[in-house]
Amino acid sequence: MYNPLSWRNISTAKTLFVMTFMAGLGLIVSIVALLYLSLHLISSKTNEIDEHRTALSVEGAIQTSVNRVWSLVIDNAVWDDAVREVYRPELDTDWLYNTWGAGFKINNLYDGTFVLDEHFNVMWGSSFSKPFTEKDLSFFGAGLHAMIREHAEGLASENTIYAGITRTRSGIAFIGIGLIRPMVGRLQARDGVRRYLVITRHLNPQILTALGNTFQIENLTYTQDRISQSSVPLKSAGNERVGYLNWTPGQTGALAARAASGDFTRIVVLAAGLILLFILVSSIGLYKLARGESLARRVARTDWLSHLPNRRALIEELESVSQRGDSDVKSVVFLDLDGFKDVNDIYGHDVGDELIILIARELRDRVPQGGMLARMGGDEFAMTVGGDRSEALAAEFAGNVLTLLNTPIRLGERTLYMSASIGIATGTLTECTSSELFRRADIAMYHSKITGKGRVTLYDAALNSAREQRLSIENEIRAGLERNEFEVWYQPIIDAHSQKMTSVEALVRWPRRPAGELRPDAFISIAETSGLIYGLGQFVLRRACQDLGPFSDLKLSVNISPAQFRDPEFEEKVANVIEMTRFPSNRLQLEVTETYVLENPERARVAIASLKTQGIAMALDDFGTGYSSIGYLRQFNFDTIKIDKSLAGLVDNDEQAAALVSGTVRIANALGMTVVAEGVENEKQMKLLRLAGCDQLQGFWFSQPMPVEALRALRQVRQC
Ligand code: C2E
Ligand code: CA
Ligand code: CA
Repeated sequence: MYNPLSWRNISTAKTLFVMTFMAGLGLIVSIVALLYLSLHLISSKTNEIDEHRTALSVEGAIQTSVNRVWSLVIDNAVWDDAVREVYRPELDTDWLYNTWGAGFKINNLYDGTFVLDEHFNVMWGSSFSKPFTEKDLSFFGAGLHAMIREHAEGLASENTIYAGITRTRSGIAFIGIGLIRPMVGRLQARDGVRRYLVITRHLNPQILTALGNTFQIENLTYTQDRISQSSVPLKSAGNERVGYLNWTPGQTGALAARAASGDFTRIVVLAAGLILLFILVSSIGLYKLARGESLARRVARTDWLSHLPNRRALIEELESVSQRGDSDVKSVVFLDLDGFKDVNDIYGHDVGDELIILIARELRDRVPQGGMLARMGGDEFAMTVGGDRSEALAAEFAGNVLTLLNTPIRLGERTLYMSASIGIATGTLTECTSSELFRRADIAMYHSKITGKGRVTLYDAALNSAREQRLSIENEIRAGLERNEFEVWYQPIIDAHSQKMTSVEALVRWPRRPAGELRPDAFISIAETSGLIYGLGQFVLRRACQDLGPFSDLKLSVNISPAQFRDPEFEEKVANVIEMTRFPSNRLQLEVTETYVLENPERARVAIASLKTQGIAMALDDFGTGYSSIGYLRQFNFDTIKIDKSLAGLVDNDEQAAALVSGTVRIANALGMTVVAEGVENEKQMKLLRLAGCDQLQGFWFSQPMPVEALRALRQVRQC
């Protein structure tokens, strides 16, 4: 069965929620990733900068150490006392040791002092406060060799002091060399005699620690080989790589990152919290939205009165079936309550509403498994069901509905007699669209309606063409009324005894129909079902009153169809015509058939009574074609009964018919009603009907219906 609460909305909301949740989660992850990435980038950049800065510091430290040795050489070589001591023919080794050799022990600024001659041979030396006994320079390594080789002239010419790095046999050393000379003035020495002072300072852990402290370099160490990317190479004076200085990188960035990690975590938690809050708020919003939408959809798809799905819901359902490409057979049952409008008119809309609710409930109980029932609006319902047995199920449902309505409906203190006109159409949605299926069921229902109501019609193609024909006639009537294509003709009604014309019956004619004249039987019912009868009926009544006004001795009988009679303003409209045409109401008679009277006895009684107070006479038309007895009909106070031509025309051949006619006449006369026999076609009939006691006679034996001019002419002849 159809459930108006659409799961689709709920699943949409769910999807939206999941999407928002995933988006929120993605946002959190991206924010965290972004923060981590930037932190990592900043920290590694900081480390890089720090490393570069430290490398520069290391280079500075190396240069400073070289400079220190250089200064030491200046301080000790450019010194008058030293000149005096070392340029003697015999070196005073005590002086040399006391002055330079013991320095290592005292100040640790250097660890070796050497005096070289002009050939750069070692004349005296002290290394780590021990006498140095080697004569050549092999101990000092390539660094000193290079310095001497490159700057021999400079050295000899007194000007310059040179310092650099070398690898001695004891290790890596800062080394400086300079000519020993007086502070002021030129060196007074024998030709070519030169004394050079060489000072060494070997790298050792203490020196490195001291340097590290000075330059804020952590764990400054020396290695022979490069051990990290950032190690700074140590180059000898001969440009030979003699090792590397290494340190432990400060990891400032990592430190900063670690320091900031607390704040960072807080930021992440805050951002995540805010996003979660956002997800929560939007989820609540989404939920409310989905619920509101689902409610709105439910309202839009539900009939407010019966709480059944409405037309839209049913069409949507069928359309969704056809969109799925379902080749399933579908049946549509279209159901229109007969006479519902009268319930509304007579008892008011509240009773009408109650009736709809009650019938909706009853119908719902009869919907087959898998079927869907909807109220299409007003007094129309539709039921669809699918599957191979759909047509049988639809027919069974329709039959059940008719059985249900066969029993009078009790509504409070009222008993209502209802029926329904039902149409069924079956087909697959691939062969015809859902709206076409509806249209077909509607056509079939319409056929039930116009062929007597309270029945079921199965759609077939012939119905469709009949319907199309009806539709085109409907349009023609509409146009015909506008273009004045209709006429009113009159058929005389003769007094049975005097044989004089006492009245006429107005009969509509359509002589100017472009497609050819149509008899009233062929278009009156169409005018009735389409509502055009109101206009057409008004036209006939007005025209007849105008035409017959001058014939003051003739009464006028006008046919009124049940549809006109249902119009709550009908009596008022008749009164207006009488007033406008100044036609004396006591000359007017309205003819109604028993159909309407039986359908709406209460309303009919009221309307008849009201018309009679206006002085209008009422005739029951076509008596003998229906089922009701004259006894039943007496309650309506008809002035006249018109015996239908199908009965009157039988009197000359059928004794039973003749007996029925004379019985009817007797009762009618007893009730004070005038009896008119219609369809008198021959003399025998005329005589028999007169014998049976009919008061008035009408038929081709006397006259065909004629236009008003003919009637006028006939009257003039008679008068002549
Ligand atoms: P009705 O009210 O029974 O009208 C009498 C019908 O019988 C008329 O047919 C008339 O021409 C025909 N008729 C008269 N004498 C004889 C006869 O001796 N033998 C035979 N076989 N028929 C005879 P018409 O004019 O074709 O009208 C047919 C029906 O259409 C009428 O039946 C009436 O129900 C309806 N109708 C005609 N004019 C109007 C109108 O203005 N308004 C309404 N609501 N219905 C009308
Ligand atoms: Ca009639
Ligand atoms: Ca009749």
